[in-house]
Amino acid sequence: MNPVKHCVLRMQTIARAASDPTDHVAAVDARTSMDDARIALCVARGVPLEDIDPSQGYDLTRRAYESVRDTWIGEVRRKGLSEYTRPWFEAALAYWREHRPEFVEGDDWLAAAGCDPDCDGGWVRYRGRDGEFVELRCRTCNPRGGAQ
Ligand SMILES: [Zn+2]
Repeated sequence: MNPVKHCVLRMQTIARAASDPTDHVAAVDARTSMDDARIALCVARGVPLEDIDPSQGYDLTRRAYESVRDTWIGEVRRKGLSEYTRPWFEAALAYWREHRPEFVEGDDWLAAAGCDPDCDGGWVRYRGRDGEFVELRCRTCNPRGGAQ
């Protein structure tokens, strides 16, 4: 069998096996197996060893970074970030900042998606003519949702 296909099938098997949410030992076991399977998948795809996250098995190449970045920028442009997706967005960025700071340095995903330069967590703060500070929802990444 094609080694990439083999790894993908193994990951699907592991994901299916870890179905009992109350069995924590099995869950930890499945997570470790999944990390190993991810490493094997990277190797099968020809990712250099120095570009594989040794604990979780993620592909840390520039190409993988661009792919994750483009996916998130597309998501922000299409739908913005909700209270559910924003933490995932921030976790993805934090992951790359930790593992490949040289890729993230100077690369603002929200600016690339078209956020206001003053956007901070989905809100743009500015001083009105009366001197009071006003916060407006960023139209790109926070088009709707609950009031602040
Ligand atoms: Zn924004």
